[in-house]
Amino acid sequence: MLTSIAGRSVIVTGGSKGIGKGIAKVFAKNGAKVLVVSRTLSDAEATAEEIKAAGGTASGIAADVTKLDDTQAMAEAAQSRHGGLDVLCANAGIFPQGTIEELSPEDWDQVLDTNLKGTFLSLKACLPGLKASDQGRVVITSSITGPVTGFPGWTHYGASKAGQLGFLRTACLELAKYKITVNAVLPGNIKTEGLIALGEEYLQSMAQSIPLKALGEVEDIGYAALFLASKEAAYITGQTIIVDGGQILLESLDALK
Ligand code: NAP
Repeated sequence: MLTSIAGRSVIVTGGSKGIGKGIAKVFAKNGAKVLVVSRTLSDAEATAEEIKAAGGTASGIAADVTKLDDTQAMAEAAQSRHGGLDVLCANAGIFPQGTIEELSPEDWDQVLDTNLKGTFLSLKACLPGLKASDQGRVVITSSITGPVTGFPGWTHYGASKAGQLGFLRTACLELAKYKITVNAVLPGNIKTEGLIALGEEYLQSMAQSIPLKALGEVEDIGYAALFLASKEAAYITGQTIIVDGGQILLESLDALK
């Protein structure tokens, strides 16, 4: 049994939907005070209301992680509403599809700005709060795509997700003196609004290529993040946990027989 996270103040960027919502719910279920962040205030507040209806503590805020002013406002809201800041789950991300031939420089920048620069700006803004905590934790949602695997149509996305790991390997060194740990969860294919939008054909063919024969649930990522945020994970930093149902292990589809 891990030491309870109850009473800890947690920010989840991209917490209104999908994996971020799963992370927010898992932390709240375990007693944390959760600030749900997304660009759309009504969605962030709706998720916070769902959490409160289930007995948890949460509030929502609109912030765009590509803007430093917004991430600073988000960090300040955690301080004023929840009395401090212990955990940043830097999860907000986008994954529009486009081959190199199709992508414009603006398409590229939008994905890198959200997924990679957004991780940097979120951590930068949260640093004063995390430094003041006796258990500062940063959990980044990266992906298998980029750090481990490739997928046509997602060069920009893969670059952003691999970039997050380059960022974390130095961030963890810079922050070690404050006893802040920085780790990442690398999801495989998780059933989210964003992934469902890719269509039934994508979801079905993907499930067939996973040894556990199913897409992951958002809570699967939530519990990996919860462990990395726990007191017991204090000596783990600069590391990654792959949560993918075994998907990256296949050398060929014959391995599934
Ligand atoms: P999703 O269902 O589309 O949700 C994305 C969340 O991020 C929403 O809350 C969205 O709200 C928010 N968001 C997007 N851009 C933002 C911005 N600039 N500032 C603040 N919030 C922003 O996506 P998901 O599938 O849960 O993905 C979440 C994370 O997991 C991403 O980092 C993604 O790369 C990673 N991931 C997902 C999968 C998967 O299978 N789903 C696999 C590997 C990795 P607004 O649009 O209202 O801002």
